[in-house]
Amino acid sequence: MTRHLVIGGGTAGMNALRTIREEEGERSEITLVSAERPYSRMVLPYYLDRSIAESHVFTATAAVLAEWNVKTQLGRRAAALDTRAGVCTLDDGTKLAYDDCLVATGSSAVRAPVPGADGRGVHSFWTLDEARGVLAHIAPGSHVVLIGAGFIAFTILNSILALGARLTIVEIAPRILPRMIDPTGAELVEGWLRRHGVAVRTGAAVTRIEDRGGRRRLRFKGGRDILCDVVIMATGIKTNLEWLAGSGLRVNRGIVVDERLRSSVANVYAAGDVAEGRDLVTGEPAIHAIEPTAQEHGRVAGANMAGRDATYRGSLSMNIVEVCHLDVASFGAWDDPGAEAFTAVRRERPAYRKLLWRGDRLTGALILGRSSDVWTTNDIGMLKGLVQSGNSLAAWKEHLRGNPFDVKPAFIASRTTATLLPLTLLGRASKAPGTTPVAV
Ligand SMILES: Cc1cc2nc3c(=O)[nH]c(=O)nc-3n(C[C@H](O)[C@H](O)[C@H](O)COP(=O)(O)OP(=O)(O)OC[C@H]3O[C@@H](n4cnc5c(N)ncnc54)[C@H](O)[C@@H]3O)c2cc1C
Repeated sequence: MTRHLVIGGGTAGMNALRTIREEEGERSEITLVSAERPYSRMVLPYYLDRSIAESHVFTATAAVLAEWNVKTQLGRRAAALDTRAGVCTLDDGTKLAYDDCLVATGSSAVRAPVPGADGRGVHSFWTLDEARGVLAHIAPGSHVVLIGAGFIAFTILNSILALGARLTIVEIAPRILPRMIDPTGAELVEGWLRRHGVAVRTGAAVTRIEDRGGRRRLRFKGGRDILCDVVIMATGIKTNLEWLAGSGLRVNRGIVVDERLRSSVANVYAAGDVAEGRDLVTGEPAIHAIEPTAQEHGRVAGANMAGRDATYRGSLSMNIVEVCHLDVASFGAWDDPGAEAFTAVRRERPAYRKLLWRGDRLTGALILGRSSDVWTTNDIGMLKGLVQSGNSLAAWKEHLRGNPFDVKPAFIASRTTATLLPLTLLGRASKAPGTTPVAV
């Protein structure tokens, strides 16, 4: 019986083990090692604003894992991987032999290296434990400071406001969302936030966080101090790779994988945040620390582990956030300096479109508009589809140059839906979790 070892019970790991069960011809042995119980980080903002109960963040209960015939080592960390012997050693010394293995250990939050960053009242927001800590400390009227104005900070912004807190965002870069939108978009979002009572301070370097009578005092390189109740550091993430030292896996910024999600060692796969796989648009190796990539990586790796020959086209970089009912999204190579760009802005609404081209193909897009405008929601989907399909828009390029807001005719005429609809990851429709079969 083939022994599969899945390390990491997040989105990538869970999709892989389900896919193994769906694809295999005969029963294999699957062991899941995970430092945390399986849950989805992406839903933590909804747990924070109490839209969902804590029990709803979990993606598989012990009963479901037993039903899928998965042996578990939960609460245990993989500490070393001997790829020659095919053995993984856990933090308690347990040794697990495997025939093939998937590394899906994701990433962790990184705090800015300033004195006081590890002090009382200073939090990260990446794990369920960290989310619990934040939730326990925010009360109506609390003053919360978010350090770092990137994608993760923006995923929890609405939740913090929904808890009745006062919010200040502090960013060291000259603008907010520096890795998600361009300066024009950032200026519009910043204005929108101020209109909604959120204070924003950019170009602000925190030098120290002090305890001041039970409250936090933030000191800066320049400018006045901020006194607040809760500090959340959303200052970046790092891939969880340290434990792989000496494993012989080829690592760049993440574990380098091929189109089958295979690492430089043939029977070791990697998926999700920890993997550096193919970018759909550029074809270059990239880490996309987002849910859709983790899901797709996991399924392709799982299918290959089950004995199928599944190849992956690559993942689409995408970031979508909703900020006080303003939708903001970027797709593909939105920051490509070599691309031809068409832009249109309506500051009063606000609304913004930026279309980026390589020849006749749309290779990147930025979009911003009120969530209440139906055409914002529609355009988000259509722009994503146009970038994802890579269809030629030769006949529509001139129209879009003069009318970047008028995406719909180009989407329909280019038959983008017809291109995308038949595309499936594994050549079949995906199954709902409850229908995962277990081979006997
Ligand atoms: C607050 C928040 C909001 C987000 N919102 C979005 C969103 O709106 N859209 C989006 O696309 N993405 C979002 N993301 C990102 C998304 O959640 C991640 O990209 C996704 O979780 C990656 O999945 P993964 O399986 O690669 O890693 P993870 O989900 O991080 O899972 C890794 C697993 O490995 C375990 N592990 C780590 N080290 C070890 C070890 N040594 N041994 C054993 N187990 C180990 C961990 O405990 C964890 O269970 C959000 C993330 C957060 C935190």
